[in-house]
Amino acid sequence: LWNTLLKFDKYTHDLSSSNHFYRTLKAKRDAYVSHLNRIYRNNLDKAKIQTIHGHATFTNDPEPTVEVNGRKYTAPHILIATGGQPSVLSDAEVPGAHLGITSDGFFELERLPKRSVIVGAGYIAVEMAGILSTLGSKTSLVIRQTGVLRNFDAFISTNCTKELQNTGVDLWKNSQVTSVSKKDSGLEVTIVTKDPEKKNDEEKISTIQEVDCLLWAIGRQPNTSGLNLTELGVDTDERGHIVVDEFQNTSRSGIYAVGDVCGKALLTPVAIAAGRKLAHRLFENKKDSKLDYSSIPTVVFSHPPIGTVGLTEEEAVKLKGKENVKIYKTSFTPMYYALTTRKSPCIMKLVCVGKEETVMGLHMQGLGCDEMLQGFAVAIKMGATKADFDRTVAIHPTSSEEFVTMR
Ligand SMILES: Cc1cc2nc3c(=O)[nH]c(=O)nc-3n(C[C@H](O)[C@H](O)[C@H](O)COP(=O)(O)OP(=O)(O)OC[C@H]3O[C@@H](n4cnc5c(N)ncnc54)[C@H](O)[C@@H]3O)c2cc1C
Repeated sequence: LWNTLLKFDKYTHDLSSSNHFYRTLKAKRDAYVSHLNRIYRNNLDKAKIQTIHGHATFTNDPEPTVEVNGRKYTAPHILIATGGQPSVLSDAEVPGAHLGITSDGFFELERLPKRSVIVGAGYIAVEMAGILSTLGSKTSLVIRQTGVLRNFDAFISTNCTKELQNTGVDLWKNSQVTSVSKKDSGLEVTIVTKDPEKKNDEEKISTIQEVDCLLWAIGRQPNTSGLNLTELGVDTDERGHIVVDEFQNTSRSGIYAVGDVCGKALLTPVAIAAGRKLAHRLFENKKDSKLDYSSIPTVVFSHPPIGTVGLTEEEAVKLKGKENVKIYKTSFTPMYYALTTRKSPCIMKLVCVGKEETVMGLHMQGLGCDEMLQGFAVAIKMGATKADFDRTVAIHPTSSEEFVTMR
């Protein structure tokens, strides 16, 4: 939502106008979220679903039982969908860590920070850095290695890292925050940088001063502690995620789990689709109803956005052998930039497998890639080959036509 509202050029206004814009943006966003909440509440009421507000935990009763505000509830089917929360560091790990916020706190910010430091290399860190920087906050991103989005295709990871810098984010590679302290002028963030390429084990210690927003985006953890799952007989993995089979069954009969709490493909439509499939199985007698977790399309709302679906080149090579993988890629400047001084490349890659050259991965970053992905994801889900792509007539002049004209 933030990114949708943010499609304007950061060079056209100064920080004071940014601040005014930010307040308007936040007020409108909050109003929109409240509006959505009302719609969902109404839908629940219309469907005659009772909503019980409170923190739920399982009891030790013989039948699976949930307790909320001192009252107990039981049912033949119980679904756990408690999601996750941002991971945080303790002050013992990084002195002053509590002075920072997480993505939850980001949505509460009342004014645009003048100086932001974001820690993390995942999509949340990348998106937050993009939003703050685009709005006009001087933004530094601290990453432990040399690139962001390291579990994406290397083509995307490298390009996104470069693009962050091109769009004005101050990137601290091979770096870690070691302490945070509060001064009159704001937070002082101490960072240690150690380049593994350099032979002499030299560490450089730096500080960023007058920071008014330190944001930890260092991962997420499932909301399972305190649910009493061990006593209930619901297995969790070493990170606390609930272990489910392909039908969302937990290890305890009659108890299911969907969404982020299971730790797989942490995306809203995935949680919704898994829940819907489960409902069809349990209440519409569709015994085989289950979500296929393969080839789930994902967009990172970076600047410019990233679209990705299916196997990365690295995964395809590992899975199918180098000799069975053929890569097509391109990099170009979208026509939109013919009229602008600032330009941003668009990169695209197809990962094809086997003699048929089945397209098993598609990765892109550039203007419009967020909207471009869904249709290609349908084709890939249907098993499209490179020949199918080639048979499709191009739409000119667009960026997406590059996918059907790759040689
Ligand atoms: C910053 C950020 C940006 C994101 N952007 C995107 C995006 O662009 N696209 C996308 O698809 N996904 C995005 N996601 C991921 C998406 O938000 C999650 O995948 C999705 O919300 C998971 O749904 P869920 O129902 O599993 O959990 P949640 O939406 O987290 O819901 C879990 C609910 O359970 C409640 N709860 C927890 N424990 C208890 C308890 N014991 N008792 C009662 N209630 C409890 C929680 O308060 C919460 O309301 C983003 C996530 C973050 C953090």
